[in-house]
Amino acid sequence: MEFEKIDIFDNADKPLLIAGPCSAESEEQVMAVASRLAGKGVTLFRAGVWKPRTRPGCFEGVGKPALQWLARVKEELAMPVATEVATAMHVEQALAAGIDLLWIGARTTANPFAVQEIADAMRGTDVPVLVKNPVNPDVDLWIGAVERLYNAGVKRLGAIHRGFSSYAERFYRNAPQWQLPIEFRRRLGSIPMICDPSHIGGKRELVLSLSQQAMDLNFDGLMIETHCNPVCALSDARQQVTPDELSVILGRLVRRSVNGDELAFHSLRKRIDEIDDRLMELLVKRMAVSREIGAMKRDMGLTVFQPFRYNETIERYTRHCAGGKLDTEAVKSVFEAIHAESIRQQLRIVNNENE
Ligand code: PEP
Ligand code: MN
Repeated sequence: MEFEKIDIFDNADKPLLIAGPCSAESEEQVMAVASRLAGKGVTLFRAGVWKPRTRPGCFEGVGKPALQWLARVKEELAMPVATEVATAMHVEQALAAGIDLLWIGARTTANPFAVQEIADAMRGTDVPVLVKNPVNPDVDLWIGAVERLYNAGVKRLGAIHRGFSSYAERFYRNAPQWQLPIEFRRRLGSIPMICDPSHIGGKRELVLSLSQQAMDLNFDGLMIETHCNPVCALSDARQQVTPDELSVILGRLVRRSVNGDELAFHSLRKRIDEIDDRLMELLVKRMAVSREIGAMKRDMGLTVFQPFRYNETIERYTRHCAGGKLDTEAVKSVFEAIHAESIRQQLRIVNNENE
């Protein structure tokens, strides 16, 4: 896919900044946040007009009348404005109100029918669209949503990383799983990537550190929910920051550059490559031993997977790294991956597919 430049982003500061309340609650609230954000380097003013809430009974947005408040922000404060769309009707009403950019929310990206409906409604228009990742950690589903828009002729596209819901996660509202946006970008090349630390963290105290991590991972911009009186916000009260807090966060962000003196890393990278080569050799050796065990299991009529041994292996290595040099979870996932490959190879042997 060859994306076209989003003109609103062209002369913007880096990081690009999309700021504004989670929801447009009243004309006064929208104008109050917007006027406190004006002149602060905000690339786009955001406010949710239609709110896809997880549970019924929560504030679901004001709907169409709120589009006029955004139109007022655009006209009186000269800030481009953005809102979330989830249906063809939202697209039509948002475009009719002159909204400058639309985004697709995480719950909508997860639904290909809804994304297709939005893509069809966008045909022949030139308003840019940002696609949030789906709630579930599925890079293909995320890319699929971008493709549906692209195939409908929307070439000014970007993506927003807002984290992934999970049953086990406690610290973040939505686990960042940074490897997913990294993989998404690797596969889509030039697409602009925005990080939404507000929905990842779910708490305002986490916005700064998540924004810094996004900058360190070379995201192009940030979407930060901003409200004049966050504790009284009708949605996402826990994660919104005031315009003043937003200025503090931006002031504290350390900006690093992506391009540097490549030669400076040359000898260290060579050493890394040599170590990786040795790791590969060791893995190949390990798998050869594992195949021998596979042949024994086959001859003895044993199952390939033996839970006791698996638990023992994982525990052995996670204990090892408790020395502090490696993260326990990272070590666990490395050994899970190695074990999965062992199992795959042994299954082939037991079923006589490999010799
Ligand atoms: C939002 O941006 O307010 C929102 C509803 O986000 P998400 O789709 O990421 O949950
Ligand atoms: Mn929100």
